[in-house]
Amino acid sequence: MGKKFGTVKIFFKNKGYGFIHSERKDIFFRVNDIFGPELPRNGARVGFVEKYGKKGPFAVEIDILDGGLVICENCKNIMFPRTVFYLGGNPDKSVCRFCGAVFKVFPKTIYDEEAKYMAVFFVLAIIFSVFCFFSTY
Ligand SMILES: [Zn+2]
Repeated sequence: MGKKFGTVKIFFKNKGYGFIHSERKDIFFRVNDIFGPELPRNGARVGFVEKYGKKGPFAVEIDILDGGLVICENCKNIMFPRTVFYLGGNPDKSVCRFCGAVFKVFPKTIYDEEAKYMAVFFVLAIIFSVFCFFSTY
């Protein structure tokens, strides 16, 4: 059975239950059905499996998607994206741990831009000095 996604509408910490809003309805959940030690905040994005009981739908196998966990658009797995670095040590992009699909491409930093300009300046300086060297003869 596939995972569904929604947001925590309300969580009663002292009572240990709450409701997830998903697909225009509110789905009951218990704190015991949350994976991991983290408690959901109101408004937190969650992934869950929907079940049906006597009193209506309820959620189990709940993953809290805040705090770095994301859904891969490609394989629909819930994952921590793996960051790929390029030469120079700056983060280039993050990819899915399961299928390798690109999750996010990081904007180039000012440092990268500076490095590029420095490289161009360096090449120009060499050309200029070579030019000066030959033009003296
Ligand atoms: Zn994936």
